Formats: sequence, C-alpha cells, structure tokens
Amino acid sequence: MSSWRYHRPATVAEAVRLLDTGGAVLLAGGQTLVPALARTPARSATLVDLGAIAGLRDITASDAEIRIGAMATHTRIATDPVVRQGIPSLARLAFDIADPQVRNRATIGGSVAYADPAGDYPAACLGLSATVITDRRRIPAAEYFTGAFCTALTDSEMVVALSFPTFPQLLRAAYVRLPNRTARSALVGVMVAEAESGFQVAVGGLASGPLRWPEAEAALDNRLHPEALQDLACPLGASDYLAHMARALAVRAVQSLAT
Ligand SMILES: Cc1cc2nc3c(=O)[nH]c(=O)nc-3n(C[C@H](O)[C@H](O)[C@H](O)COP(=O)(O)OP(=O)(O)OC[C@H]3O[C@@H](n4cnc5c(N)ncnc54)[C@H](O)[C@@H]3O)c2cc1C
Repeated sequence: MSSWRYHRPATVAEAVRLLDTGGAVLLAGGQTLVPALARTPARSATLVDLGAIAGLRDITASDAEIRIGAMATHTRIATDPVVRQGIPSLARLAFDIADPQVRNRATIGGSVAYADPAGDYPAACLGLSATVITDRRRIPAAEYFTGAFCTALTDSEMVVALSFPTFPQLLRAAYVRLPNRTARSALVGVMVAEAESGFQVAVGGLASGPLRWPEAEAALDNRLHPEALQDLACPLGASDYLAHMARALAVRAVQSLAT
C-alpha cells in the first residue's frame, strides 16, 4: 500500500526538522525527484516542499558576491539583472539548460544537491569558486562536490543559497558546453574564469564528477593564449573523446574571453 506524506513548511528550520525525522526528502523543482519517485517500487515517501519558504528564491548582491537562493529557478537566474551584470556566464549557462518547462521549475539548489555529473552548475560552481551555503555552514565548491551524485551534505542538511564571487575577485568568465542532444543535458562543459588569483578552469561531464583542471590553469599562466591548451594532459578520468572535447571547449572559452 502506498503511504505519502506531504509538508510545506514556512521556514528553513521547520524543513530541516522534518528532514531530521528520517525518511523525508526535500522537494524543490521536482524535475529530477518526481520522475525518480514515480519509478520507486516502494511508493512511499515524506515530501518536504520548499516552495513556501520566504526568501529562498531571492538573488542579492553585496560585498563583491552574488547570493542566489536555493529555490531560484534557471529561468530566474537567466533573466535576473544582478546575475546578468555580475556573472553573465552563469546567466547564459542557465538560459541554455534544457527547455522552458524545465527551466521554469528546476532550481539551482536542486541541481547542486543532486550533483549530476552531466549537470552544468557543478563545473560552473567549481570554476567560479562558489560557496554552498547550507542551514548550518558554508562549504567551498571544491570541498562540496565529492564525486558523481555525491556531495559533502549530511542526510539532514539543506542547501539554502549559493554565493558567487564577483568583481574584483572574479574578473570575467566563460562557460562552453557540448550538449547531449538526446538527454538534453551537457556531455561535457568547461568553465574558464579569470580571477584575481589567476585562471580557474573546471570541467563537468566526467564520470568522476566535476574537477578543476590544474594543467589548463598552469598552461594559461595568467595570459589568454588558447594555443597553450591544445596538447594538454587529460582531466582525470576523461575518456579520449571527452578529453579531446574538453580541450576544444576550453580553447573556445578562452577565445571568447579574449575577444
Ligand atoms: C529533461 C531535463 C533536462 C535537463 N537538462 C539539464 C541541463 O542541460 N543542464 C543541467 O545542469 N541540468 C539539467 N537538468 C537538471 C535540472 O536542471 C535540475 O538540476 C534538476 O532537475 C534538479 O533540480 P530540481 O529543482 O528539479 O530538484 P528536485 O528534483 O526537486 O530535487 C533533486 C534532488 O535534490 C534534493 N534537493 C532539492 N533541493 C534541495 C535543497 N535545497 N537542499 C538539499 N537537497 C535538495 C532533492 O531532495 C532531490 O534529491 C535537466 C532536467 C530535466 C528533467
């Protein structure tokens, strides 16, 4: 017999309390979770819908960072003037995801919580040195993504927002993806960011989850010269094909930054 429970808390504290009781799952845009639940033979779940929590969709800018609430949809991120001005590469990335139906429902919080290696946000968060803000701590993206579909979140922890550095910490960035036309996700995606401290390059789409690409960062050596990327060693775990594509996308990202 199926047994479903549905809660729609008004605060983060209440959502986390419900999560803490065990067996509950957070529901954000539902674009991944709902089809997954429909396939679950047990047909029993406690859903904690985050849609009524005030402030979780907010996008604000302050002190050289943009804070994006976990429930901000891809459409919101693609069209928000603060994101478009401060991190245009992120707005563009959001605009290129799937189709309007998915973009109008799916959220950045759901995306980073799910940590699909084919997702676009994980590599972007890594390349842009984002910080994942949960109900209890701040986790740098480099420590947050621990593998494919794996994160540093504990079972009862909830993503509340993401913080992205902006100027002067981030000077400019470009994200280029090779779309997987069948799955409508990215086959491989590369974020190249020019930060105060130098170039940051991250690759998504690898079986191992998103990775920084130190060889590419060293090759750029503080100068925008795409030819330095042509013969680079592959990112860890990439097949020959993905490595080839990652190099080609990195070159395109650097070229777009140079123009
Ligand atoms: C047809 C299709 C095409 C897609 N194409 C792309 C693409 O090209 N690029 C791309 O990046 N993504 C793509 N996606 C994925 C999509 O963008 C979302 O990232 C994904 O569906 C999850 O977001 P959601 O808000 O729907 O989360 P949900 O489905 O509601 O939740 C996903 C998981 O995250 C957990 N969760 C949700 N919110 C939180 C939170 N705040 N804290 C902790 N845990 C949480 C849930 O419990 C669940 O386990 C695609 C999805 C579909 C259906």
